[in-house]
Amino acid sequence: MILNEYSSKRLKMVETQIIPRGVKDIRVINAMKKVPRHLFLDEALWPQAYEDYPSPIGEKQTISQPYIVALMTELLDLKGHERILEIGTGSGYQTAILAEVAEQVYSIERIPALAKRARKMLDDLKYTNIIITISDGTLGWREYSPFDGIIVTAAAPIAPKTLLAQLKPGSRLVIPVGEEFVQDLIVYTREDGDSFSKENYGGCRFVKLIGEQGWRG
Ligand code: SAM
Repeated sequence: MILNEYSSKRLKMVETQIIPRGVKDIRVINAMKKVPRHLFLDEALWPQAYEDYPSPIGEKQTISQPYIVALMTELLDLKGHERILEIGTGSGYQTAILAEVAEQVYSIERIPALAKRARKMLDDLKYTNIIITISDGTLGWREYSPFDGIIVTAAAPIAPKTLLAQLKPGSRLVIPVGEEFVQDLIVYTREDGDSFSKENYGGCRFVKLIGEQGWRG
C-alpha cells in the first residue's frame, strides 16, 4: 500500500473516531492528521493502524487506541510553549503527537528494546524536541522538573506523589488510575502549593505502570 492511502485512512480516523467523540483542540486534531501511526507498528499490522482499538507493540505492551491518545493530549491543555514529561514511551507514537503540540518532550520508558525502537523511529521522522531515557518513570525526571504537564500512558494504582510534586502550579497530570484491568482517566491540576484538584474523565484500560510508585510487577 502506498503512503497516500495511509494518509487518507488517517484523515478518516480523525473524522470518524476523534472529532465525533468531542475532541476539539485544533492543534491536537492536526497532529493526529499528520503523524503516521502505522510506522510505529510492525509492518504486518499496518493495515489496522488506523482502526479504533489498541494494537500490540511487542514486550507484552500496546499502543493506545487513537481516540485515547487524542483525548489525553487534549486534557493536557497545551498552547505550544510547554515542556512535557511522558511516562511510558512505548512505540513513541504518543510522544510524536506531544512533540507536535508542545515545545519539548521528555519521555521515560522502562523497557530498553521499546525505548530504542521508539528513538529510531522518532529520529527517522526528524523530531528534534524529544529526549528519551530508560528508567522508572514513577519517580519522574527531577533533572528537568518542574514540568508544564505530565502524561502517564500506563495504569497506576494511585497517582505517584513524585509526579505530582514535579508539576508546575496550574499544570496537569493526566493518568489512568485504578485496578489492574480497569481504571479511570484522571486529571490532577496543581493549585497553589501542594493542593490538587481532581477530575474524572471516565473508564479506560491500560497496561500496568510498573515501578517504585506503581505496581510491583
Ligand atoms: N504511549 C505509548 C505509545 O504511544 O505507544 C503506549 C504506552 S504502553 C500502553 C505503556 C508503556 O508504559 C509500556 O511501554 C511500558 O513498558 C511502560 N511503562 C510501564 N511502567 C513504566 C515505568 N515505571 N516507567 C516507564 N515506563 C513504564
